Amino acid sequence: MKTPAKILIVAALAVAVVGAVALKQGKAAPEFNPAPAPVAASGPAEGLAAKTAPVAAVKLPKLIDLGADKCIPCKMMAPILAEFKRDYADRFTTEFIDVWKDPNAGKAYGIEMIPTQIFFDATGKELFRHVGFYGKEDILGKWKELGVETSGSKPSAGIVRETPVAADTRPRETACFMCDEAVNPKTRTLVKGQSEQRVLCGPHCYFIYFSSIVGADPKAEEAKVSVTDWATGKLVAATAATYLYGMDAQGRPTTKAFTDKAAAVREQQTSPGNLLAWEVFRSKELATRCAFCDRAVYPEDACGVKFGTTHGHGCCTHCSMGVAARLKQDIEVEAKDGLTGELIRVKTLDGQIASLEPKTAVAWFGQKKGADGKWVSAGCFKQGFFVNEANLQKWLDARPAMTGRQITIAQALADKMKLSPEQIAKACKLGECK
Ligand SMILES: [Zn+2]
Ligand SMILES: [Zn+2]
Repeated sequence: MKTPAKILIVAALAVAVVGAVALKQGKAAPEFNPAPAPVAASGPAEGLAAKTAPVAAVKLPKLIDLGADKCIPCKMMAPILAEFKRDYADRFTTEFIDVWKDPNAGKAYGIEMIPTQIFFDATGKELFRHVGFYGKEDILGKWKELGVETSGSKPSAGIVRETPVAADTRPRETACFMCDEAVNPKTRTLVKGQSEQRVLCGPHCYFIYFSSIVGADPKAEEAKVSVTDWATGKLVAATAATYLYGMDAQGRPTTKAFTDKAAAVREQQTSPGNLLAWEVFRSKELATRCAFCDRAVYPEDACGVKFGTTHGHGCCTHCSMGVAARLKQDIEVEAKDGLTGELIRVKTLDGQIASLEPKTAVAWFGQKKGADGKWVSAGCFKQGFFVNEANLQKWLDARPAMTGRQITIAQALADKMKLSPEQIAKACKLGECK
């Protein structure tokens, strides 16, 4: 051989999906080669015969995947390995070795193609090896064949946070009563209550608030609302203001309130949008509602829910599941990962999950301890779906005051399906969310 030994990449069954199989240095490789002919091997002339792992014996059986982070079939292995690490850690250890970054590791195992998976028993003795992409069920089936029981494994209990990592020390008037986000002083909105006033981050949260109250009288409620004049920072009665209704870079509506219409017109020169009087503004804001709890939503913030040929919205991920319960119909939900916005698709059938993409998706059930010590839902703004537990963890890391627990998407649906018609009728109205 003129060239040094190379490690081939095997795409195996994934070949049709991922396209060409490539050599390490970009040359064409055999298209499908589950039993590769050895290429020039440096080091000891070992074949693929069973050998003892050059690692210290571990108590659990071990799966080692040798690959590289840039090899396509190897990348396809990554989420499977992550799932094994998370959900099967009590049954077998899972390890990934990047043989491009650490070529000696590849040599030590005598592999010639990547990805290669090697199965070891608890004493470190090699039981089996497979070359190419190897699916989750195939790997679990192989473990079973090798005498390692995996079927009893269930997903880890998940993240539970009953006490905040750090207390929320923000002064109350700086956090929105509805969404809990920081209140921008330029859009601050106040609702007068009997004894206290509620601070909202902007007019949109007033409409969420209003649509959350059972049997609210719009005239009586809106008479209690003041908004902040964008130009002067002074408060003005919400019904008397002019609203510049624009759009941010993400296509989400933005609202600026003005006492003086001329000031609104001036702002419109640099910040395009429509000038609306209260009545029109209100009807726009209340036009789109959660198909479960009836709250006002911006479609950009909401989950898409399809039932029959109708497209509706769920104001939060858990509400979107509730649409199946409220309508007693099969639904298709398109939710966004709370951290990254990646899509999560859920289809239901007879009140159960029919399909979930990605399968690693998890839900967060934001809860708080009520006055009676019982855990209750912390409301729609504290719920979320995530493509995997790692994203949920990152999202929680950024929310140290958040409490609640990780649940499965199936549990989020089941929680809604078990609601009585009466509970559904008053779903998630202020103070009644279960
Ligand atoms: Zn808000
Ligand atoms: Zn809702």
